[in-house]
Amino acid sequence: MKQSLTPWLSPEEIAAAVGRLAAELDRDYRGRSPALVGVLNGGFIFTADLVRQMHTGIRRVEFVKAASYGSGQTSSGKARIEKGLPAEAVRGQHVVIVEDIVDTGITTAAVRRYLGRHRPASLEICALLDKPSRRVTEVPIKYVGVSIPDRFVVGYGMDLDHRFRELPGIYEVSGEGPAGD
Ligand code: 5GP
Repeated sequence: MKQSLTPWLSPEEIAAAVGRLAAELDRDYRGRSPALVGVLNGGFIFTADLVRQMHTGIRRVEFVKAASYGSGQTSSGKARIEKGLPAEAVRGQHVVIVEDIVDTGITTAAVRRYLGRHRPASLEICALLDKPSRRVTEVPIKYVGVSIPDRFVVGYGMDLDHRFRELPGIYEVSGEGPAGD
């Protein structure tokens, strides 16, 4: 089947959502310099834009790499941390997990457990997109950009088999062809 991309959020709409999240974080973390932990690979563009829209001093920006998806659009049901961070990046810090999208919640829950073991002073989740109807594992997302229905989206860092991350907007994918077609 041929894949087609339907525009879902324009670059302007994304920037507005990121700006709202940055303002919420600025309000809540005033005087507390949070450590932001982006979740790779999908969260790299969102993290980069979020830190540039925030005015609050940021203590550090780190990334963890988590994997929950195999190839295609179906979840493997498991998540593991493939790349972690030094314990001192988290210990005693006000940490914000920066996720592109929370779907089943399995990845975010694994990242939260991993970071929680390093004893942060506080730990919250900020997600650009949330698909609440798909949740399998409950995760407390304090900051949500846009809630979306059960659709598979790409662009703005998010991929389908490594493709489409570079698109400045977010698109819904319909149809799924073999990788590389
Ligand atoms: P979860 O563990 O919550 O099911 O999935 C989280 C990860 O799966 C996200 O960080 C993202 O990498 C991937 N994912 C979930 N939904 C989508 C989607 O609609 N599009 C893309 N490109 N990735 C998704």
